Amino acid sequence: MTKVSLARCATYDADELTEIIERCLFQIGFSVERFQGARVVVKPNLLTVAQADKAVITHPEFFRAVVRIVKTHGGTPVLVDSPAIHSLERVIKKTGYAAVIDEERVEVADPTAVRTLHFEGAKRFKHIDISKAYFDADMILGLPKFKTHGITYITGAVKLLFGAVPGMEKSKMHLRLPDHTEFADFLLDLYGAMINAFDPPKPMLHIMDAILALEGEGPGQGGSPRHMNVVLAGQDAIAVDYMANRLAGLDVQQAATVVHGFQRGYGAASPEEIQTAGESMTDLQISNFVPASGSSLFSNIFRWPLNTRTFKNLFVERPVPIPETCSLCYQCQKICPAGAINRAKNGESVPQYDYDKCIRCYCCLEICPEGAIGKKQGRLQWMLGLLER
Ligand code: SF4
Ligand code: SF4
Repeated sequence: MTKVSLARCATYDADELTEIIERCLFQIGFSVERFQGARVVVKPNLLTVAQADKAVITHPEFFRAVVRIVKTHGGTPVLVDSPAIHSLERVIKKTGYAAVIDEERVEVADPTAVRTLHFEGAKRFKHIDISKAYFDADMILGLPKFKTHGITYITGAVKLLFGAVPGMEKSKMHLRLPDHTEFADFLLDLYGAMINAFDPPKPMLHIMDAILALEGEGPGQGGSPRHMNVVLAGQDAIAVDYMANRLAGLDVQQAATVVHGFQRGYGAASPEEIQTAGESMTDLQISNFVPASGSSLFSNIFRWPLNTRTFKNLFVERPVPIPETCSLCYQCQKICPAGAINRAKNGESVPQYDYDKCIRCYCCLEICPEGAIGKKQGRLQWMLGLLER
């Protein structure tokens, strides 16, 4: 039986959060005394430059509360992340993290230092390059933000670990894993490696910021912030993600990292093996949480297995830049792993997209700082929409 603690929390006040998170850790049976003398990776979601109220990044005060807990109990917190487009330094500066890091005197790991983690039990890749800081630590704390995602349906505790893969290597992984289930398998390989492949093993904790979550076209600026007012904590990332899906009233069957995760045997093998602690799920559950449009069953079926130009253009949502909000910053072009984005032609106010090359990974949508990329249905997708009803 694995435990996930649930706590109502409608504030980002660091003092209140500290109390709530400590209580959550106690409820899952984790003794904070274990921080004594430990070097602790604290990994928030620092996807890109975004203000905390956009719900794209883990709130800086949430991060503050966790580093205070680690420090109070004798540990050394180390911030570890590697954003895809901007430097970590810039993201820290522009997201409110700089003040917290300064005031709490938190060490920041060098995002360019990389080491290979070997995991024989992996399904896709047995050797994965990750930030060296994970090797140097005694313990790993993931601070996921609960958000929707166009490919993985949700981004939570498992998907957060993708941030361990250095910078732009992340978007290249979409080319190497051109199917959403393959990509989910890789994420589970990475999680499996983190819990099984270090010698000695490193305890992991997942403390989720689902206070202000992100619904709709997440996980970037195209999504819409939505209050869930919950903090979740657990030692099993798959179980934490499962509970977050349930709290949001989402269709868990579409979250491949959860469904396939149960089959991996890393922790809980089914919902029946998850025990909740703290407040009741029924009291915290919300309704009408909106998933990302590209994550429907049919979109995923047609995204890659039938990845011909025709099928893709007929049946899968395509990313479409919006002239009214696009600032022509070309971050989308920089991140596109398929080379499908070109500069705007004379007088046009958005970059040119080549939909024959586009693999529908939605990295551009995720990274666009203006939330200026929408999705447009394929020409025959409305038919599938009817079938899905
Ligand atoms: S669509 Fe977004 S990322 Fe691309 S150029 Fe416009 S503002 Fe920049
Ligand atoms: S255009 Fe956008 S969705 Fe298409 S391959 Fe490039 S980054 Fe991915």
